[in-house]
Amino acid sequence: MSAVPVRPLLFDLGPPIVTTRDIARAVKSGGTSALTDAERRADDARYQEISCRSALNRVEGMPFKWTLNPYRGCTHGCHYCFARRYHVQFEMNADDEFASMILVKRNFPEVLARELDRASWAREHVAFGTATDPYQPIEGHYRLTRASIEALARGRTPISLITKGPMVVRDRDVLEDLTRAAGCTIYMSVPTVDEDAWRLLEPGTAHPLQRLRAVRELADSGIDVGVLMAPVVPGFSTSRAKLERTIKAIADHGARFVGCNVMYLQDGTRTHFLKFIEREFPSMLPRFTRLYATKYPPESYRQEVKAIVRVLQQRYAVARREGRENAGREPAGSAAHEPEQVGFRW
Ligand code: SF4
Repeated sequence: MSAVPVRPLLFDLGPPIVTTRDIARAVKSGGTSALTDAERRADDARYQEISCRSALNRVEGMPFKWTLNPYRGCTHGCHYCFARRYHVQFEMNADDEFASMILVKRNFPEVLARELDRASWAREHVAFGTATDPYQPIEGHYRLTRASIEALARGRTPISLITKGPMVVRDRDVLEDLTRAAGCTIYMSVPTVDEDAWRLLEPGTAHPLQRLRAVRELADSGIDVGVLMAPVVPGFSTSRAKLERTIKAIADHGARFVGCNVMYLQDGTRTHFLKFIEREFPSMLPRFTRLYATKYPPESYRQEVKAIVRVLQQRYAVARREGRENAGREPAGSAAHEPEQVGFRW
């Protein structure tokens, strides 16, 4: 890691400590090519190992107080991903670099275990995977998420975890331990089962039905698991027929609950998504810019989608639960109305 400014050590204590601040400084002066130690793997993404000083991250204004993210950046590369905009913290862009330069917090489980051991830790609920997917493919190599769940079970700390990675079934055993020790809810993200929308919008993810099979396996193991259709994307996955196929498939796979949220666009995510639309679907751009005059589409539109989803949830008898991801992000109030029309497309 010659190009990254590493703080000198008094003694040789093993590999140098590279922090996110070091990474940001190096990228600012030399771009991501300055990260000469980042390893390029078969998926063509580059992986930069770093050390973290803390694992539990305190947040404000959300329905949870603590978050955990052992990786930053995500090779799933969903075009609507709200976390794209966070990559600029490391002086990287919200476009290709978000999905191709992944920071790996190598010492994350050890740091977390120390924090959970503190007498002052009150075992509050922790939201796992708020800024990146903890079961993106590289987890198969590093196993940081698995080791963290083991630490959380030992520390009797309840979590909710959101992922699009079927690899979560690998960790059924430790998720069962955590369920018994403190409580655990898995939110599998499956915005739609429509194959075209999946291929276009979530290019690096597993097939939606593979994710739903993982839901079935977790539910059969007694783990509290449901599906978040988050986000559904206007023009791609919000037609009534697509919503119905998705909710039926969710119900068929034994999900305990379903939540739904319409895409919102902010900062770097907005820029990236609108560039993607302009490049791939230029005729849709005027509609998107009208619909997303602000970061949320109009309240009436969102309520129309949610009302359709509510009707379908009742039809297929799957309980409603909004994910922690959704909570606190939308204006309160505005009673939903039941839709009359069935030709809903946007
Ligand atoms: S899987 Fe989640 S974190 Fe990863 S790119 Fe998609 S939305 Fe973002």
